[in-house]
Amino acid sequence: MNLADCSSHSATARLLHFGSPGAIYLRRFVGSLHVGRCGSNPTHVKTLRLRSNPPKTLTVTAAMASEAEVAASAKIIDGKMVAKEIRDEITTEVSRMKDAIGVVPGLAVMLIGERKDSATYVRNKKKACESVGINSFEVRLPEDSAETEVLKFISDFNDDPAVHGILVQLPLPKHMNEQNILNAVSIEKDVDGFHPLNIGRLAMRGREPSFVPCTPKGCIELLHRYGFQIKGKKAVVIGRSNIVGMPAALLLQREDATVTIVHSRTQNPEQIVKEADIVISAVGQPDMVRGTWLKPGAVVIDVGINPVERGYRLVGDVCYEEARKVVSAITPVPGGVGPMTIAMLLSNTLSSAKRIHNFQ
Ligand code: NAP
Repeated sequence: MNLADCSSHSATARLLHFGSPGAIYLRRFVGSLHVGRCGSNPTHVKTLRLRSNPPKTLTVTAAMASEAEVAASAKIIDGKMVAKEIRDEITTEVSRMKDAIGVVPGLAVMLIGERKDSATYVRNKKKACESVGINSFEVRLPEDSAETEVLKFISDFNDDPAVHGILVQLPLPKHMNEQNILNAVSIEKDVDGFHPLNIGRLAMRGREPSFVPCTPKGCIELLHRYGFQIKGKKAVVIGRSNIVGMPAALLLQREDATVTIVHSRTQNPEQIVKEADIVISAVGQPDMVRGTWLKPGAVVIDVGINPVERGYRLVGDVCYEEARKVVSAITPVPGGVGPMTIAMLLSNTLSSAKRIHNFQ
């Protein structure tokens, strides 16, 4: 895999070809990631090791990272590995539930329209369900379907005891009202966590949402599993979308971080980000966050998935090559938050089935 120079941080960022002077390459070894420049010895970047859940063996925090450690290079927060660990845990639980009470969790996924990216996401979700033993039910409707048709399917799934989670793949065709459709999903089966009641409960002290949106939940799960302290830390979330930025900020606040949200109208975002012990970026701008924006020793969770080089390569919102020299830990793109999103969807579906059937 080649990495681009972030100084041309745009969708047309220049690609340094493998083998050319200054090109950067990544190679995966057993359990660790090596990063280096062509023509030099690879710099060994140690991946933080996890023990099985729930023990949180790693106690490195943004504040605790030593100068030497920061200078050496950032730890890689390996979302792919953590997601696998979570899927293994879910597989065990699904089979335990089936053996004990004969119930198999079920997820209904609705795809309306012909968007290729949405079709890929739905296919991946279906495959992920199969891999852990969760039943999946798929409905595909043409782009010009009536909203009432979608609502009818949702109503049927709400009443179907074999379905414990309902997911409507977004975005919807333009003629449909997203609010009407998401509101129609039973709050007890809203495994995406987008129902306004779930979001409202997430925002309120002393209330518990039935489900938390999968991508932000995955970000927090990574921080937990790697043992990063959130309580009392300064956190900055870049982006305020309903599906990532806003719920991520609410979650961090629930964990007692002091949270600032940066958005497209924020003045001096660099200065604000520079104060953060924890940065979660969900913007959708390739390599927007430069190394100079980051506080030494910070922990960075990069949610951005940005295709560059005509879609041949994906980069995050954070310039990885610059950031890893400054921060104490960072998620790669791909292989960071992405795999966690589906793992959290499976986890929400399992929790829903357990709750509905009162299974501990
Ligand atoms: P979105 O709905 O487009 O929201 C983007 C947010 O970023 C908005 O709040 C916007 O501010 C803000 N923003 C845009 N330009 C900015 C700038 N120059 N400076 C500061 N803030 C800026 O996107 P999204 O759905 O949240 O997704 C964000 C990224 O995450 C995308 O790359 C997406 O592909 C990725 N993503 C990844 C996963 C995963 O599983 N890893 C899941 C979902 C999304 P305003 O509110 O002011 O417009």
